[in-house]
Amino acid sequence: MTPFSSLPEAEQKRPAVKRKPLTRQQFGALLVKQDCRCAKCGGKLDFSKPRQVIDEHLQPLADGGNNDLDNRALYCAECAKGKTVKEATPRARSKRYAEGRTQADKRAARGGSTIQGRKNPWPPKGSRKIQTRK
Ligand SMILES: [Zn+2]
Repeated sequence: MTPFSSLPEAEQKRPAVKRKPLTRQQFGALLVKQDCRCAKCGGKLDFSKPRQVIDEHLQPLADGGNNDLDNRALYCAECAKGKTVKEATPRARSKRYAEGRTQADKRAARGGSTIQGRKNPWPPKGSRKIQTRK
């Protein structure tokens, strides 16, 4: 039992849909729709520097979102950063659980101590014996 076993199936699976970049037409359509403003903070989108306008998936692909235009929005760099960080952390964690890559799983794979069958790993193999006085 992992704490994430209650997550909906979509949360535990790799996204089936690959991220697609917006076409010029889609990008333009979003710009008009959003009046050249960030979809989150409403700030004017800054086109004076590269990578200041980020297209985001409103519903992440990993959570069953798609590449359709109505699932896309333009964010300023700051908002995009916040959105990605917020989503990536629980996603990476649930992915690790889904793939059996938790710390506990790794320990078990090494034959190390687990909660059920605890082996005393001390002293580690190949280490020097502790000298005791006679
Ligand atoms: Zn913003």
